[in-house]
Amino acid sequence: MIRYAILNTSVKIVSFVGKGTKSVRGGVRHVDDNMGSIIEPIYQTSLFDYREPERRPSLHGVVPLKYSREDNPTVHAVESKVAELEHGVDALGTSSGMAAITTLMMALLSRDSTVLMPLDVYGSTLVLMERLSKFGIKTVITDPGTNNVINSLKSGINVVFIESVSNPLLRVYDIPKIVKAAHEVNAVVVVDNTLATPMGITPISHGADFVIHSATKYLSGHNDVVAGFIVGSDDRIKGVWEWRRFLGTIMEPFTAFLVDRGLKTLHIRMRTHEENAKAVAEFLMDHPKVERVYYPCLDNHETYEVAKKLLSNCGGMVSFEVKGGLKEAMAVYKHVKMIIPSVSFGGAESIITHPASTTHVHWSPEDRARAGIKDNLLRLSVGLEDPEDIINDLNQALNYA
Ligand code: PLP
Repeated sequence: MIRYAILNTSVKIVSFVGKGTKSVRGGVRHVDDNMGSIIEPIYQTSLFDYREPERRPSLHGVVPLKYSREDNPTVHAVESKVAELEHGVDALGTSSGMAAITTLMMALLSRDSTVLMPLDVYGSTLVLMERLSKFGIKTVITDPGTNNVINSLKSGINVVFIESVSNPLLRVYDIPKIVKAAHEVNAVVVVDNTLATPMGITPISHGADFVIHSATKYLSGHNDVVAGFIVGSDDRIKGVWEWRRFLGTIMEPFTAFLVDRGLKTLHIRMRTHEENAKAVAEFLMDHPKVERVYYPCLDNHETYEVAKKLLSNCGGMVSFEVKGGLKEAMAVYKHVKMIIPSVSFGGAESIITHPASTTHVHWSPEDRARAGIKDNLLRLSVGLEDPEDIINDLNQALNYA
């Protein structure tokens, strides 16, 4: 009877070697044999027939499928793909990157827990931790950089939270070094891998305990969804699943469909983002109106050696300081024609951001100075347009500086 066509879950035929194959074909598909769709259907339903629970699969190994706040097959299909790409045992889709961070923090922390993070993590992550202090959770914030994190590690720190590549100055953190030092004091290591993506690095294969993604960025890749993931290296992810269930932070099925669609080209997009970003970085390096260029794989970058050791893709973000100050940087920002002045990154369209007046506007000038964010700094999310057009646009805008 079609109504009772059982989902043939966890159909996994072969294991894949290449990251490209995993992006296109990784994870599981919940195939309805009656229809034979090759694409995971969008299970736009809040509940599942529960007359015979034993016939329902348990997608995360906790409870049988019954309610979309707990589990949903379309969401699970993309979760299992992301878990495979990130070398995790399982992943949980969330409604945003911040939902992923909040859900994981709720699961890992309790009153009197202490979290350690460098100042150059995403601004809202810092604000979230500040707000969690009302529940007795403490956060120690170090100056940016691997050594500052390691030097602040001591027993009593429960969680270390870093970004594999930070933003906007694109520092690459030495994950294996931090993991070693953190595990010596029994701290859990969480890595936000949003900028690097699994095409750049897979933190779990370097010993990290959890990986976070804002899938709003490169994973979905088209500036058309808000989404996130938590990836677990072991069974502790089941405890996080419980928190997602009670917080209600699961991803929507249609969002999951779009993220899965985006993921199919992640390897190709990241290759082109990297090629374009390198071309843009080289152009900016030679430009007389540019003071300094930040790109992880340029040998002038403070973490170049770490990037060389760890990154298999240098990413699509380039930051640069315009000669002069705020006025000159704003002149460039206001005169781009094709590049879009806005926030966020990781989509097909090139985006330019002025961190001091947008993403970091609420920071004190002292904290901005500590993080190295100057008034003349611009951040570029280099898109998938042809590099000539991106460079031409920057060139004409730089004339106004
Ligand atoms: N992590 C990083 C590195 C980010 O840049 C962002 C957003 O910009 C987030 C997390 C939060 O993600 P979302 O905006 O999807 O909630």
